[in-house]
Amino acid sequence: MLKPPFNDLKAWLIDMDGVLYHGKRPLPAATEFITTLQETGTPFLFLTNNATRTPAEYVQRLAEMNIHVTEEDIFTSALATARYVEKNYPPPRRVIVIGGNGIRRAVQEAGYELVDRAEDVTLVISAMDTDATYARMAEATLAIRAGATWVQTNPDPTFPSERGITPGAGAIMAFLEAATEQKPLIIGKPETGIFRQALDILGAAPEETVMLGDRLETDILGGHRAGLKTICVLTGIASRAQAQAYDPRPDWIIDDLTALIE
Ligand SMILES: [Mg+2]
Repeated sequence: MLKPPFNDLKAWLIDMDGVLYHGKRPLPAATEFITTLQETGTPFLFLTNNATRTPAEYVQRLAEMNIHVTEEDIFTSALATARYVEKNYPPPRRVIVIGGNGIRRAVQEAGYELVDRAEDVTLVISAMDTDATYARMAEATLAIRAGATWVQTNPDPTFPSERGITPGAGAIMAFLEAATEQKPLIIGKPETGIFRQALDILGAAPEETVMLGDRLETDILGGHRAGLKTICVLTGIASRAQAQAYDPRPDWIIDDLTALIE
């Protein structure tokens, strides 16, 4: 069972990295917490800014850590971006995607044609891309400078790897900002677009929903902006001192997920 006062929350948005696991290592009570939500029929959605993986890849990765969910339980900034452009810039369109499997697949499944050259491109979508080359960045730059709409999955400047801090989606964005002298529309946390879509999927109202995450400037700020309650868990990026000093202050600060269940 969920401990009071957390049992009063009707729906949960849950960040993954730093909350459920670190790299390939599950964090304390992650399995028990998710099982509790499932057994009590509490609606939840895993909400990640990471646009590199597909939902199927996440389901498999989580299963290896004994967390068993379905693809419908996963909502990434890649899916949110595809939904956004589908509604606002509908296909058919020629699109340049700077990004990995997660965003490429989502955009393709939405019905767009992914192309490599800037000619006749009306939409550029950028994300973290571990295979980014100067040539691809140049094509994206040419398309944006020629008037293509530019949408960015998420703003995270860095990406934690097993060897240390590496460039994230925001570093790709900064490269294109410098080259185009323009700024993209950003979908992921802390922007409210991804939260509104997630609430829509869950059929939940913001004031009865909580965002559980480890990063203050994305999870907590974004959750607050979208009108949700927020829980900062200290198993990831933020320290207790940082969480207590942050504005907006999280509604709850917990050491790990054992604080949520009994
Ligand atoms: Mg995180």
